[in-house]
Amino acid sequence: MVNLASQNDCMSLPVTEEFYSVQGEGCNTGRAAYFIRLAGCDVRCPFCDSKATWNAAHSTPANVADIAARAAGTGCRNVVITGGEPLMHNLAPLCEALRRQGLSIWLETSGAHSLSGSFDWICVSPKTARPPLDEMLLNADELKVVISNANDLAFAEQCAAKTRQGCALMLQAEWDSRETAYQLMFNYVLEHPAWRISIQTHKILNIR
Ligand code: SF4
Repeated sequence: MVNLASQNDCMSLPVTEEFYSVQGEGCNTGRAAYFIRLAGCDVRCPFCDSKATWNAAHSTPANVADIAARAAGTGCRNVVITGGEPLMHNLAPLCEALRRQGLSIWLETSGAHSLSGSFDWICVSPKTARPPLDEMLLNADELKVVISNANDLAFAEQCAAKTRQGCALMLQAEWDSRETAYQLMFNYVLEHPAWRISIQTHKILNIR
């Protein structure tokens, strides 16, 4: 397994992009947040819309204190650490730097790697290409499963069975399959009301 955390001290991290926007999907939809998209991903989903993040060698390392200062400089309250697969890195130094700025920290992860850092909200979006660790499903505040066909609904239930009570259960259409997936999810949620539908509103609004 590639572990990028062992390749540096994680006081600097490979950043693909940073931007201040509005969370477009999941439980925190509509809330302003500063996005930190880290490079590196060994999950390699066929439908990935962030393939530019896969190879960390193509990004420039950024100091965690500088990242946190840029985030705080926007006036944001919340930060989303995403990727790529951010947990390929030790996130503790970045989280500590963000805490010193008084920011609330949200994580978006596939759950394929162990947790590092401390978070106010953990969204695990598991992928069949590299299934999540049981420990990460237990850590999840939100389980967000990408749906393109009925097999994905079965995978969603397998993952949900390993979450703790109170974890928000979200189904989200794979964008290119959304016409089929919306109908599947709609029918499924009516019959399984523990689940909710997550819409990728940032794609509809054409924002990042
Ligand atoms: Fe892309 Fe996310 Fe899958 Fe990695 S885990 S390949 S970034 S969709």
